[in-house]
Amino acid sequence: MRVKFWGVRGSLPSPPTSDEISARLTEALFRLGQDGSSLDLSDRASIARWVDTLPHSIRSFTGGNTPCVELQIGDYRCIFDLGSGLRPLGDELMAEEFGRGEGHAHLFLSHLHWDHIQGWPFFKPAYIAGNRFDLYARHPHAWDRLRDQQTEPYFPPDAWGDMKADTHFHCLPCEPVEIARGIKVSTLELEHPSLAYGFRVEANDKTFVYASDGAYPTPGNGSGSDPAQKFVRFFEDADIVIFDSQFSLAESMEKRAWGHSSAIVGVELAARANAKRLAMFHHDPSASDAKLDHLLRISSEYAANLPSPSPQNAIEVLMAREGMEIEL
Ligand SMILES: [Zn+2]
Ligand SMILES: [Zn+2]
Repeated sequence: MRVKFWGVRGSLPSPPTSDEISARLTEALFRLGQDGSSLDLSDRASIARWVDTLPHSIRSFTGGNTPCVELQIGDYRCIFDLGSGLRPLGDELMAEEFGRGEGHAHLFLSHLHWDHIQGWPFFKPAYIAGNRFDLYARHPHAWDRLRDQQTEPYFPPDAWGDMKADTHFHCLPCEPVEIARGIKVSTLELEHPSLAYGFRVEANDKTFVYASDGAYPTPGNGSGSDPAQKFVRFFEDADIVIFDSQFSLAESMEKRAWGHSSAIVGVELAARANAKRLAMFHHDPSASDAKLDHLLRISSEYAANLPSPSPQNAIEVLMAREGMEIEL
C-alpha cells in the first residue's frame, strides 16, 4: 500500500500569503549567511540540496488544500475525499491512463461538507469519456449533493452534464464489504455535524484507516462501558491512522460541538489500538506551520512517554503534508 496526501487542510482552502513567503525567503537567506558560506550559488543542484536541509517550516508549507488522500493497492487506486486536493491529483492522473479515458478509481466520501466535495467539479478525469469511477459513501444522498453543487444557476456552464466518465454510486452498508478481490472496507460513524464516516481498508496484510472529521470521548473517561472502545477496535493494528487533529486538546474540549479532535486524543486511541502510525490531518485553516510543528512536537513527546507493553513499538506521530508519500 502506498499513501499520498494531496489535501490536508480542514474547513476551507488556505493558501500561503505573500507575507509568509517573504518571511521564509528572508529566514532562508539569513541562514545562508550564517552557515552556508561554502555553498556554490552558481549551481542550482547544490542550492537545492542545501534547501533540503532546512526545516519544513522554512522550505515548504504544510499545505492549503482541503482533504484528499490517495491510496494505491497494487493496480487499485483509491481516493479518500474530494476536497480541493483532488484538483492537482486529477491533473497528475491526466498524464496517465486517465488522460486517454482508460482509468479506473474508487472514490470514498466521508461526508458532504464543502471541504470534502469542492474538488469534484475541477477533477479533469471525470470529464473524459471512458474513465470509470466507483463512488462509495454511507450517506444515501451523497450523489445528489455532488450533482447539486454544480448545476445551474450555481455553477455555469453545465459542468455536471459535461462529465462524461462512467460513474457509479454505491451506498455502503454498515457491514464490511469487499470492493475488489482481497480489499476489505469497513466504515464507522464519527461524531460530527450531520455525521461523517471513517474508512478502514485491509489488503495484503496491511491496514489503512482514514478518520477525518470526528470528535471523540475525552481520554481517561473510558471506565465501565467504554465509549472509546469502538474507535479503538476500528483502529486496531492499523499501519496508519489518518486522524482529524484540527484542534489542540483544550480546543477540542471547548469546541466539541464542531466535531473535530486533537492529536493527543488520536495518540491515546491509536496507542490503545496498537496502531503503528498516527498522521495528523485536517489542519485548522488558521493554524500556522509554527503552531502545527508545536502540536506535532508535544504529541510526539506524549506518544513516546505513554506506558506501553512494548516500548520499542511506540506509535509514530506524523504531520500530514501535501505531497507526502508513505509506503506501508
Ligand atoms: Zn472537514
Ligand atoms: Zn465536516
